[in-house]
Amino acid sequence: MDLRVKFTILSLFPGILEGFFNSSIMSRAVKNGLIEYNFIDIRDFAFDKHRTCDDSPYGGGAGMVMKAEPLTKALDSVSAKKMRTIYMSPSGKKLNQKLSLELSKEKEIIIICGRYEGIDQRVIDLYVDDEISIGDYVISSGEVASLVLVDSIYRLCDGVISRESLEEESFNNSLLEYPHYTRPEVFQGLKVPDILLSGHHANIENWRIKKQLEKTIKNRPDLLKNGHLTGKAEKLLNEF
Ligand code: SAH
Repeated sequence: MDLRVKFTILSLFPGILEGFFNSSIMSRAVKNGLIEYNFIDIRDFAFDKHRTCDDSPYGGGAGMVMKAEPLTKALDSVSAKKMRTIYMSPSGKKLNQKLSLELSKEKEIIIICGRYEGIDQRVIDLYVDDEISIGDYVISSGEVASLVLVDSIYRLCDGVISRESLEEESFNNSLLEYPHYTRPEVFQGLKVPDILLSGHHANIENWRIKKQLEKTIKNRPDLLKNGHLTGKAEKLLNEF
């Protein structure tokens, strides 16, 4: 099988990333040659006595800033200027399914994980194609954010998980997913909806679309405003 996407991740704490790449669906995708990865420890490119990677901000203020020299040397070591280079940042554009799908078509993606107050702006100016945020909140480690990005991308690559699972997911057709049930049939007094036990596929499909609509109206009505519903969903929505 031919290689789909290579993730090169630059970090001060690459140990955080390892568990994800060595477990479950990702480790299988790597074994099957669908995904390749490479961790770059930015500290390996800090050549002063203390291997310093951060310094206080010009202009004053709290916290430290990741220095440009070690980070750009690390970036040069993987020819980042020739690749799609992403900096995880709360002030980036917000990640969504559409962006993940677009990125799943790239051959190689370089991801910079920030720490402290973030990275020197000149690294962004010189190397970064996209600043991406995982949501409107601040976490302390770009590594955790980068794993959210990687997870949302790699599962869309051909052969990683089944087409069918992907097609039925939230955000396809602008709707959230329907509820799932598995054995046992009754759990703490709650029974699986009869329709799911009926074996009647057309009715089950209609029920699922209705549940999707209910959930989307309740939790994310914004998705319906600019969404593209299928004919069936559109018809059921009008019944609400
Ligand atoms: N001072 C920064 C926050 C730095 S948090 C600010 O106010 O914008 C430290 C690092 O965590 C960032 O450099 C970034 O890589 C990562 N990070 C934090 N929140 C994130 C988010 N919502 N999306 C993506 N990355 C985030």
